[in-house]
Amino acid sequence: VKKHKILILGGSEIAYQLAHKLQSLPLITISSLAGRTKNPRLPTGIYRIGGFGGVEGLVNFLQTNNIKLIIDATHPFARKMQINAHMASSISKIPLLRLQRPLWQQQPEDEWIEIGDEAEACTVLPKESTVFLALGRQYLQVFSTCHDVKFIARMLEKPPNLANFTNLKIILSPPRSVKNEINLLRDEKIDIIVCRNSGAQASYGKIIAARHLKIRVLIITPPKPINIIPTLSTIEEAFEAILSNFRNMY
Ligand code: NAP
Repeated sequence: VKKHKILILGGSEIAYQLAHKLQSLPLITISSLAGRTKNPRLPTGIYRIGGFGGVEGLVNFLQTNNIKLIIDATHPFARKMQINAHMASSISKIPLLRLQRPLWQQQPEDEWIEIGDEAEACTVLPKESTVFLALGRQYLQVFSTCHDVKFIARMLEKPPNLANFTNLKIILSPPRSVKNEINLLRDEKIDIIVCRNSGAQASYGKIIAARHLKIRVLIITPPKPINIIPTLSTIEEAFEAILSNFRNMY
């Protein structure tokens, strides 16, 4: 049996799950990570790390490696990669599927305020409040101009330059269970949370914890997926779509 190659554009929880699940099929999966973190979690199967060098570099990678299908499973906010994948797929005529979990939906008890980006969060934070920033380290800098609030930021790796912050405490940790999130929000006396709506299960705990403690959430919504790309929302749907894509090749 000839083993066809799939490229998974990863970095999201669902991409790791898909790479793992696909090992049961007679396919070669290559997961791609951007290389933002020093010691990234590695996917099951073959992987590569680093940018491709724009659309041209990605087209070159697809052709050189004889990729037959691209699964864009990047994080909902990784817009540039999504556009590049779409353009590279059009140029190379290699089919592309988008895999993205549905975003979190506001529940009646949730106190959410939808905002456009981190800069907007800065303009609406109440004075003297204690704010939990559940954001990647690359999105912190903008908050250094808010002096009359206290920040607690949680992230996986410490950012290199925080010299201009006078009011920031960092917690190096991944998101935890609902119980732990409730304890954290209580212990740190958090008044308000700023986060991105990724739809990821692993980081939903803080949303449930905020609901429980009646804490307001400033939530940033990602851009809508590119609507001409077939979009799947579960591993099972993706598995079926991949099988049907390759069925006629075996
Ligand atoms: P982005 O702005 O959409 O992409 C910027 C550039 O990074 C791309 O043009 C590409 O470089 C490279 N890149 C992005 N994803 C890549 C991948 N999976 N494999 C190889 N190169 C990749 O992306 P971003 O928002 O910085 O996110 C970077 C990665 O972190 C993504 O893979 C995403 O899944 C993950 N992530 C992002 C977030 C978030 O909030 N944005 C959160 C969690 C995880 P070239 O043009 O050189 O190919």
